Amino acid sequence: MTSFAFPRFILRFGVSSKPSSTNARNHGFFIFSTNKRRYSTSKPLLSQQSSEAELLVVVGGGAAGIYGAIRAKTIAPNLNVVVIEKGKPLSKVKISGGGRCNVTNGHCSDNLILAEHYPRGNKELRGSFFSMHGPKDTMSWFSDLGVELKTEDDGRVFPVSNNSSSVVDCLLSEAKQRGVLLQTGKVVTTASVTVGGKFLLKIEKRTIDFVDYVEADYLLIASGSSKQGYTLATQVGHSIVEPVPSLFTFKIDDPQLAELSGVTFPKVKAKLKLETVGRSIPQLTQVGPMLVTHWGLSGPVILRLSAWGARNLFSSDYEGILHVDFIPDVHIDDVKSILIQHKNQFVKQKVLNWCPSKLGLVKRFWKYILDREGLNGDILWASVSNNTLLSVASLLKQYSFRVKGKGQFKDEFVTAGGVPLSEITLSTMESKIQSDLFFAGEVLNIDGVTGGFNFQNAWSGGYIAGTSIGNLAVAAKLNEEVVR
Ligand SMILES: Cc1cc2nc3c(=O)[nH]c(=O)nc-3n(C[C@H](O)[C@H](O)[C@H](O)COP(=O)(O)OP(=O)(O)OC[C@H]3O[C@@H](n4cnc5c(N)ncnc54)[C@H](O)[C@@H]3O)c2cc1C
Repeated sequence: MTSFAFPRFILRFGVSSKPSSTNARNHGFFIFSTNKRRYSTSKPLLSQQSSEAELLVVVGGGAAGIYGAIRAKTIAPNLNVVVIEKGKPLSKVKISGGGRCNVTNGHCSDNLILAEHYPRGNKELRGSFFSMHGPKDTMSWFSDLGVELKTEDDGRVFPVSNNSSSVVDCLLSEAKQRGVLLQTGKVVTTASVTVGGKFLLKIEKRTIDFVDYVEADYLLIASGSSKQGYTLATQVGHSIVEPVPSLFTFKIDDPQLAELSGVTFPKVKAKLKLETVGRSIPQLTQVGPMLVTHWGLSGPVILRLSAWGARNLFSSDYEGILHVDFIPDVHIDDVKSILIQHKNQFVKQKVLNWCPSKLGLVKRFWKYILDREGLNGDILWASVSNNTLLSVASLLKQYSFRVKGKGQFKDEFVTAGGVPLSEITLSTMESKIQSDLFFAGEVLNIDGVTGGFNFQNAWSGGYIAGTSIGNLAVAAKLNEEVVR
């Protein structure tokens, strides 16, 4: 067990030898273990009040789960909140943004524009979702807890420390402070709904022969893109939109391109053509920086195309044609004129050594284009025909790369697919199929482009779910007091 675990948790809630799915009116809950060596006595350590309090179990100690747990516990301090995490908590937050954690995006004050950054979810997220807890709220949340943030020119928000540990430490410390119990190294393997409408969860520890059963009043599934999470969702009545990768680089079928590895283009216009896409999709044309890698192409433009084309790329087996305009701000006629003027001016210079500066191309790329045109870079400008120059201009304005797969390296990788948004009430994050069941984060069929949008989905969803659960728990407690 790692991090701040709460070994008392199981004993606090007592042990039982078999699940009792019939204690529907009992606000208590139980955990029993099949591991008799560890839990051979039933000694409830909860005070009377706590043992009567309701229980929220959060599946997954990622961004959405921990944020949601903190929010629920903040609203309903009497609610018992337990996060079950199979690995290390917040492990993706830790590695995110190259170890810096791109917490959110600070350039989208308009929620409609913000929603446009989500290839899956752009229509649904135009509603109340970000109004309830948007990027500004997230930034205030962290800065109020002492995490200083900065917004970079492109809108990405990072901790001033440039270290994701600031974010991780803040979340874990706040969770601990609020009394959220975190159990790590355990997997929720099955979930079912009892006749009383509670959730019976089977929790296993892989390392040793260990099984617990927990009955929870509220269940928040925040399991990210894990298969187990999808299975849990289906066990409690939901369907799953087939998960496919999003945010990946493109493998390009061109051995010469590898020689350009490391070359960056600050602004290109790239259009992805796929056989499986009949109609024109505006988002399959993107403008922005592009980077050449050892295996193909990367950079914001490519990642955005991979996100908007995620489903179609999957069905095309990651094969297609990428048309790139390397000089999007210069019209093709002007490119032709620039090249011809240059030729006339530098007749006695070698073509390779004298690339027109107005085109802003690096020498390595210029050589690549000349090679592609079959033009020896050692010849003089005077020897190049105007027709050849027109072909060079066309190459620069519409270069075609053959995409033959997706990159192996997970630069920033998310999953498209998951629980369909039609099965969720986004203003509460509650399931429309099963009451007291909530979802948040990547387990849902929401994913964003790069720039902090994926974490924002996790923070917003976690916050809304935590608010709803907290309010329900407060109302249940008041109700109980009235009945008494
Ligand atoms: C390398 C990398 C870098 C990234 N960088 C950024 C970035 O800078 N900015 C950004 O916005 N997004 C980034 N992302 C995307 C972002 O990390 C995710 O969108 C975000 O973490 C989703 O949060 P989540 O809480 O929904 O899921 P997760 O963070 O994946 O958390 C889910 C947790 O649930 C646990 N779990 C799953 N099933 C079970 C189970 N059955 N029982 C117990 N535990 C379970 C998992 O172990 C996991 O810890 C990055 C992703 C990667 C891979």
